[in-house]
Amino acid sequence: MIKGNVHSIQSLGTVDGPGIRFVLFMQGCNLRCGFCHNPDTWGFVGGTEYTPQEIVDKVKRYKEYFGATGGITISGGEPLLQSDFCREVFELCHKEGINTCLDTSGSIFNDSVKELLSHTDRVLLDVKFTNDADYREYAGCSIDKPLEFLKYLDSRKIPTTLRHVIVPTVTDGEENVKKIKEIANANSCVDKIELLPFRKICQTKYDNMNLEFRFGDLPEPTQDKMQELNNLI
Ligand code: SF4
Repeated sequence: MIKGNVHSIQSLGTVDGPGIRFVLFMQGCNLRCGFCHNPDTWGFVGGTEYTPQEIVDKVKRYKEYFGATGGITISGGEPLLQSDFCREVFELCHKEGINTCLDTSGSIFNDSVKELLSHTDRVLLDVKFTNDADYREYAGCSIDKPLEFLKYLDSRKIPTTLRHVIVPTVTDGEENVKKIKEIANANSCVDKIELLPFRKICQTKYDNMNLEFRFGDLPEPTQDKMQELNNLI
């Protein structure tokens, strides 16, 4: 049976999708975002292996907390690197009547990903930057990848939340946030935009791993700035 390489599990999370959710963080990522707060998920070794059934048995224990809107979210790392495993988890969750949500960079697309999306109730799509140069420099892929992924979500009418990290001097300009809004408006599957403040609490993870935190010298955005940008959307 297929096994997934899992970085960690959060039994009851409230920030990764609607309602109260069981969040599964997958091990391994193909990108290297300058603001990433989970560099410990990057490597492909070091997680814990689980079968889909083992995960669903855990999720079921929390079912009573999910209410009408909660469920499971698979995040990472990048879940699309283990799309066959994620599909089996979601398929089994659907059989149990549990809502499924996928948090992804949308940078990988193949038949297995399409299958996974057939069992996904909502996608949290992280649009990292709004121009190709920054995407390549600070994330490690072309902007076309998430935009094409979004187009596909739109064609499948899969409810989508666009997420965008606000990093002072890099993504906190008005024009930048308006561009995010334009991308959302061009795809009717998007029913929500979430602007997330850049946070530096992960600095110690980088230090412990002897890795460079590329945006580590930049400040966190103020609450006023976040409010001002949220007003634009
Ligand atoms: S895609 Fe997510 S996990 Fe991967 S580097 Fe970017 S922020 Fe980190």
